Amino acid sequence: MAARVAVIGGGISGLAAAYRLSELARTREFPLEVTLFEAGARVGGPLETVRREGLVMETGADAFLSEKPEALALAERIGLGGRLVRTREALRRTLVVRAGRLVEVPEGFALMAPTYLGPVLLSPLFSLKGKLRMLLEPLLPRRRADGDESLAAFVTRRLGVEVLERVAQPLAAGIYTGDPYHLSVAATMPRFVEMERRYGSVILGLRAAARQAAEKRGVSGARWSLFVSLAGGMGELVEALRERLGATLRVGAEVQELRREGVRWRIAVGGEALTADAVICTVPAYAAARLLEPVAPVLAAELRPVRYASAVVINLAYAAAALPALPSGFGFVVPAIERRKIIAGSFSSLKFAGRAPAGIVLLRVFLGGALQAHLAELDEAALVAAAREELSALLGITAAPQVIEVRRWPEAMPQYAVGHRHRVASIRKRLTEVPGLFLAGAYLDGVGIPDCVRQGEAAAGAALAAVMGV
Ligand SMILES: Cc1cc2nc3c(=O)[nH]c(=O)nc-3n(C[C@H](O)[C@H](O)[C@H](O)COP(=O)(O)OP(=O)(O)OC[C@H]3O[C@@H](n4cnc5c(N)ncnc54)[C@H](O)[C@@H]3O)c2cc1C
Repeated sequence: MAARVAVIGGGISGLAAAYRLSELARTREFPLEVTLFEAGARVGGPLETVRREGLVMETGADAFLSEKPEALALAERIGLGGRLVRTREALRRTLVVRAGRLVEVPEGFALMAPTYLGPVLLSPLFSLKGKLRMLLEPLLPRRRADGDESLAAFVTRRLGVEVLERVAQPLAAGIYTGDPYHLSVAATMPRFVEMERRYGSVILGLRAAARQAAEKRGVSGARWSLFVSLAGGMGELVEALRERLGATLRVGAEVQELRREGVRWRIAVGGEALTADAVICTVPAYAAARLLEPVAPVLAAELRPVRYASAVVINLAYAAAALPALPSGFGFVVPAIERRKIIAGSFSSLKFAGRAPAGIVLLRVFLGGALQAHLAELDEAALVAAAREELSALLGITAAPQVIEVRRWPEAMPQYAVGHRHRVASIRKRLTEVPGLFLAGAYLDGVGIPDCVRQGEAAAGAALAAVMGV
């Protein structure tokens, strides 16, 4: 009889886990039955592309990092190697709103710190006082304490409050939709913590990294842009996995209860009860806490406090002729101190080729997040009105959009609070006390798509080893 593994949750973590299980079982010639249960009507979570009127509209994620290899490797293994697309590097620039205008983030500025001081000194983004404060950074002593601290505390301590308010907060909000006073620096930006530890300075650490990257580029040349996507949008990744997984996937199948039955698991779905030898749970932390409460209450208690933020993404397509000239760049972020109703905007049809037919410009606007949770609650008409009001104020766009696509993502972004890594270590420790259970998902070791693929695949490897008894 084949061993059975159940995967709960059909986001990218669960899909990657299920696909990896099928690959591993095949290469090891091990009889394995895999079933993935997804509560919603579709799999993929925030990887969802809506295609209509010649537009390729990303309602959630629009790209993934190529530096972390797992998502690229998965795309290649499922036959999408030829579908990968680069960003238009000539336009790669991040803009940030300052006093209601879009200003370029100085060249070499990496999320919270400059690599080179020249572009910073010339930038209108910072005041003279802010620039002088930044110049001091390499001279400041290292932090003595070794516990975690907030992203805001770290940036303010090293680079000053202006860098926090003008750049680090909006860029972190663009990734984590989070509040920098609550986000953990160790969990969200470990690279910078390591730079302080190693070089005594983030700026000196960035310079060393730039030198190493230049040497590496000299040898091999970068194959991909920093962010990549698929010609038909991120939905292609989900569609290809769905096709390959076939009958393994069960949508509209919410797991209501998990129980132990001897050494096996009993999974209640709809009116049915199924058994499995191992379970890979990839649902959000709050849903995992609910499911695991009866079988692993201590583990559930570690999962429950992980908070999530909600966001809204609005795609808007305009006739190019009706728009003023757009600034050159992939998009812009909006600092909270600007007190606007949107947190970011991206110029989708400039960032990637093939996102809109000729003569049409596709934009995306983000609202909500941890700092503006109330805005994510607005009704659809009010959301669109807020987006249009801000596009008019910031970009001078007054034309009516030809296509509008609004997508809400309630409780979709896990917030890595101060102490997150410690929490994840305790979750992993508790997990070892529950044989046959494996966890993966954005709330653990990274929210990005490659992080989720890595976690899903690692859980698959561990689950298979467990059912094979190795
Ligand atoms: C708006 C937005 C934009 C983003 N943009 C990017 C980007 O450009 N690049 C990037 O790398 N990352 C991006 N991210 C982050 C990344 O997309 C997510 O972190 C990742 O997709 C999460 O995947 P997951 O599988 O861990 O969770 P999810 O996708 O949330 O999947 C969990 C699934 O579990 C299901 N579920 C819950 N309870 C049950 C149950 N009881 N039974 C069965 N199923 C259940 C849910 O319905 C859900 O489908 C973005 C995220 C959002 C929200």
